[in-house]
Amino acid sequence: MQLSETVKVYPTEYQKTLITQTMTEYIDTVNSLVSEAVSGHSIAKTTTADVSADLPSALLNQCIRDAKSIVKKHYKYCRKAVLKNRSLAKRGSAIRTKAPNLPILKKHCCYINNQNYKVKNNCIEFPVMIDGKSKRISVFVKLTDRQKALFSDAKFGTMRIVIKNHTLVAQIVYEVAEPELKLDGNVMGIDLGIKCPAVSYCSEGSVKFYGNGRKNKYMRRHYAYLRKKLQTSKKINAVKRINDKEQRIMRDIDHKISHDIVETAVAHNVKVIKLEHLQNIRSTTRKSRKNNHSLHTWSFYRLAQFIEYKAKLAGISVEYVDSAYTSQRCPICGSVHHADDRNYTCECGFHIHRDLLGAMNICNSTEFVGNRQTA
Ligand SMILES: [Zn+2]
Repeated sequence: MQLSETVKVYPTEYQKTLITQTMTEYIDTVNSLVSEAVSGHSIAKTTTADVSADLPSALLNQCIRDAKSIVKKHYKYCRKAVLKNRSLAKRGSAIRTKAPNLPILKKHCCYINNQNYKVKNNCIEFPVMIDGKSKRISVFVKLTDRQKALFSDAKFGTMRIVIKNHTLVAQIVYEVAEPELKLDGNVMGIDLGIKCPAVSYCSEGSVKFYGNGRKNKYMRRHYAYLRKKLQTSKKINAVKRINDKEQRIMRDIDHKISHDIVETAVAHNVKVIKLEHLQNIRSTTRKSRKNNHSLHTWSFYRLAQFIEYKAKLAGISVEYVDSAYTSQRCPICGSVHHADDRNYTCECGFHIHRDLLGAMNICNSTEFVGNRQTA
């Protein structure tokens, strides 16, 4: 499995100039190749010999590859728009979708493949251009002890250098061996929600609640308020900063919840974690919950993905189940009815916390949909 680590880079002033020049030249070259391609001059057979750019050949190679994939994607979206318009016209609709804009790289970045950089002794080495010649520079980085351990015998993938929050960072992709999946053990059902971000029910009967829905909701409201205030005073950059900050916090929360879930699963000898299939999360929440505005489908999707890869690293498989009625069906008598507020009480006498019912039914579900979340 491929994972990535972000590493802070501490170049000298001189190195900083060199790296910035490289990044500028990199995105300029990609952009000009892309515009060349869409103006009718195919770049399908373009090689480093055809392009003059002030870049080390390894980076120029990567540039061409990037440009080709951007063009390919762009044409794919164009074809999609054409087909969409054709079907709209067929149905007699006057609405037409616009052709997609040509993507242009604006943020400074550059990609360096694994044969052209090295990570060693708190430094990364990679080539830049100095007076028209490709030369390797060795830039100081701060690695955490965890990263040192990860990188010590890692097989590296591509490295991307970008500016994040005004600092230069390297995002390093590395390969991790996946352990064999466990064949024996318990089953764990996870119900994802808003009031309770996650609830787990393990087949041996144990239950755990994760995260703090009320705190998350409060935080989102707080940021929404700040955004509104700044928007009315037209402080666009401040709005963007606040969005980024909120996203970072939400992401950290998802990392923590998914980590706790997998840790609990390992402690309870779980072999498979079952999750609701996303489409069902979407439809059940839309119908039944008031706090729609604070609901982001993608945040469920992201949390599910975090659980997926962390589980895999622990040798636990993940299954998605079709979970129609998971929060309504009584596990004892099978009858279906709505939960009353946070409690679920059945005519047969069975009663339980509503989110727990969901986790329990997901755990027991045999409605297998797949091993991957499709967005
Ligand atoms: Zn019942």
